[in-house]
Amino acid sequence: MNNTINNMITTLKELVSYNTVREEAFPNAPFGKTNRECLTRTLDIGKELGFDTFDCEGYAGHIEYKGTGAELVGVLGHLDIVPAGDGWTYPPFACEVHDGYMYGRGVLDDKGPVVACLYAMKKLKDEGFVPTRSIRLIMGCNEENGSTCVERYFKTETMPDVAFSPDGDFPLIHCEKGIVWIGLSIPTNLKFFSSITGGDKTNMVPAKASAIYSGELDTEYFVSKGLIAEKCDTACQCGKAIKVTAVGRSAHGSTPAKGDNAINKLLAVICEIENDQNLNYLYNTFSKDVDGTNAKIKSTDQKSGDLSMNFGTITTDNSTLKISLDVRYPISLTLQSILDIIAENAPLGHTINVLNAQAGLFVDPDSALVKTLMGIYKKHTGSNSPSIAIGGGTYARELKCGVAFGPMFEDEESTIHMPNERLRLDYFEKMFHIYYDAIKELSK
Ligand SMILES: [Zn+2]
Repeated sequence: MNNTINNMITTLKELVSYNTVREEAFPNAPFGKTNRECLTRTLDIGKELGFDTFDCEGYAGHIEYKGTGAELVGVLGHLDIVPAGDGWTYPPFACEVHDGYMYGRGVLDDKGPVVACLYAMKKLKDEGFVPTRSIRLIMGCNEENGSTCVERYFKTETMPDVAFSPDGDFPLIHCEKGIVWIGLSIPTNLKFFSSITGGDKTNMVPAKASAIYSGELDTEYFVSKGLIAEKCDTACQCGKAIKVTAVGRSAHGSTPAKGDNAINKLLAVICEIENDQNLNYLYNTFSKDVDGTNAKIKSTDQKSGDLSMNFGTITTDNSTLKISLDVRYPISLTLQSILDIIAENAPLGHTINVLNAQAGLFVDPDSALVKTLMGIYKKHTGSNSPSIAIGGGTYARELKCGVAFGPMFEDEESTIHMPNERLRLDYFEKMFHIYYDAIKELSK
């Protein structure tokens, strides 16, 4: 085992040394040259370990362990990363080990798990194991930027019959809500406020929102309402206008209740001053709750839990207000039913469009796939925790019959996408054993 873990560490170090953020596209390198090099090198390592490989024009690739039957087991991971960013104690591409942790961008998300699965396949091969289902370790190169990698891959390559993605959490994620980002524009006729803006991303609770006020009220009035108010400088060409800003707290769009939405705070004050029917509609419909009650889309089911809704962004364009909403809906609901309800209740002259939509994912917790993987997880950890349903989206959504399985253990604090992303080396070994059993059982 010592030898295997050492080889895993060596391979992981090599893969982490490639800064695989998305870069400018080149022929055969759709996500940039470094991504291209990393994929080539990973496939070469697969060849060196005795497997067949396939390169899907630089979008993705796979390492294959041939079985005797026609069916396919998929393991879906990715080689791209989010930018390292600032605030690291140790260099983000050097894989230094301190106190039992290896530090580096991608050690957990998702190069470490990919390496663990590759060496699990190698161990099975060394032991002379003959799988019935062929095993494909599929590696995408832009999971962090929309997953067009696997979209392209599955256009021409076979969808696995069963699969897991080591790019989520243990024990296992069997249900992911549907996600839709809705853009809504409505005409308004505001007398005192202009340049209403807030939020940068639909899938984040906005921490800041502001507007320009021109009227008789003074800055103290807005301060008394909990807003920051400052006299506009001459640069904004509005004379004695006041810039008012609401400050909230950011959170992920899949858990809006954890944040404090600055747009909602700002609109509450603006609505008191303006008497605009359409603005009131926006505020009353989308600002007062995060479960869709006032938007009449509140819904829940046992499989996936409650619908959630986040008021993500707002901008003004002349007399039109444009907003975006991030809605995470239970799998028993259809996207169309949500759009229909919002359109039905929106004021005259509105336009509604879908900015992004991802269907939900549900794999029966009683299915052979879930039961097998949950049994393996329990065997290695002793944990009795049930599989989970989430509002976020994992890579497993790209699969027809797949779940997210690891690599985050239950007692671990996630450092994914943060400075000092780190991998506990004894957990690296543990995940290797879990993935070894998983690949073996699913391919029998
Ligand atoms: Zn990931």
